[in-house]
Amino acid sequence: MARAVLVLVEHAGGKVDSVTSQLLTAGRQLATQLNGGLVALVIGHQLDGVVGALKISGADKILRVDDPALASAAGEAQGQVIAQVARQIEPRFLLIGYSLVGMELTPAIATLLGINAFTNCVNVEMRDGAVTVTRPLFDGTQHAHIALDESAVIALQKGSFAPLEPSTKEAAVETVAIDSMNLPSRSQVLAIIEEPAGDVDIGKAEIIVSIGRGIGNEDKIPIVAELADALGGVLACSRPVVDVGWLPRERQVGASGKTVTPKVYLACGISGAIQHLTGMRDSHRIIAINKDPNAPIFGVAHIGVVGDLFEIVPALTKAAKEAKSLRD
Ligand SMILES: Cc1cc2nc3c(=O)[nH]c(=O)nc-3n(C[C@H](O)[C@H](O)[C@H](O)COP(=O)(O)OP(=O)(O)OC[C@H]3O[C@@H](n4cnc5c(N)ncnc54)[C@H](O)[C@@H]3O)c2cc1C
Repeated sequence: MARAVLVLVEHAGGKVDSVTSQLLTAGRQLATQLNGGLVALVIGHQLDGVVGALKISGADKILRVDDPALASAAGEAQGQVIAQVARQIEPRFLLIGYSLVGMELTPAIATLLGINAFTNCVNVEMRDGAVTVTRPLFDGTQHAHIALDESAVIALQKGSFAPLEPSTKEAAVETVAIDSMNLPSRSQVLAIIEEPAGDVDIGKAEIIVSIGRGIGNEDKIPIVAELADALGGVLACSRPVVDVGWLPRERQVGASGKTVTPKVYLACGISGAIQHLTGMRDSHRIIAINKDPNAPIFGVAHIGVVGDLFEIVPALTKAAKEAKSLRD
């Protein structure tokens, strides 16, 4: 039988991350084309809930590595366990989410197995008879297609694939024993802490005005906040704005932030990286203001305005206030 496509299940606190279902979609397409099976690998401890949730996920088989030694295992030990399993089943490809977890594990596993690693991929597909990954270059303005002729670990960005439809057929569950005695323990996960709920739930907002790195300076945020206010909306942002501490994490839209589907999403100075698009591309109406006509955000925008946000936003605020005063 042809070798399987193996998908690493990402989970924490008993919950399966949404990237797993997206990886299963990619894995299902590959497995069908390669005439192999689709296998989900879940490692950790006390996995009943996680394995239960995966049973109708669309995988043909679930490999369960459930060991007390994995309860607090950090990346180094996890990588060794995954490599042990991969040596046993010799998958054709191993798919991992390009999350913080995947960024750490992908090169480690590939090194342990002596195979190639491809990170930051936005697609994997059969092209001209070869399994081919796509990776963005130059802030997503160009893409490289790389044909693979050997096994590889492929880390896919969140949002690259839609979630796999649940299956009516339950996956077989197989328990895999590993050698947990000799796992490295130089680092351990002490606790997984839920983010406290903030004062605004951007997931419920009907109008979102969102700022990106193009805002340039924290002092300029009130200019856009005033527009959000005038439109009766809420202020959100891309990740760099949170990373520098200008807005709290609860305002972040994207793969490692919130997914939003407002009636209107107005993106100001946001380039449109895939991790941002993942969190807002299903908004009903997307308006983008960006001074770069080639910014990828224009690929999803219903209305695109090429220009300086510091000229356009105050004009929009003025118009919104005038319209409101006419209504009142
Ligand atoms: C694992 C992982 C998870 C991630 N998760 C997220 C996530 O959840 N959310 C997220 O947003 N990102 C996330 N990122 C980061 C993502 O890859 C991008 O780096 C980020 O989205 C870029 O933010 P930006 O568009 O604000 O900044 P940039 O890409 O720097 O874009 C700034 C834009 O502003 C424009 N601009 C500059 N000045 C002006 C002006 N005066 N007027 C108009 N336009 C102007 C520029 O032309 C440019 O297009 C993640 C990355 C990784 C690796």
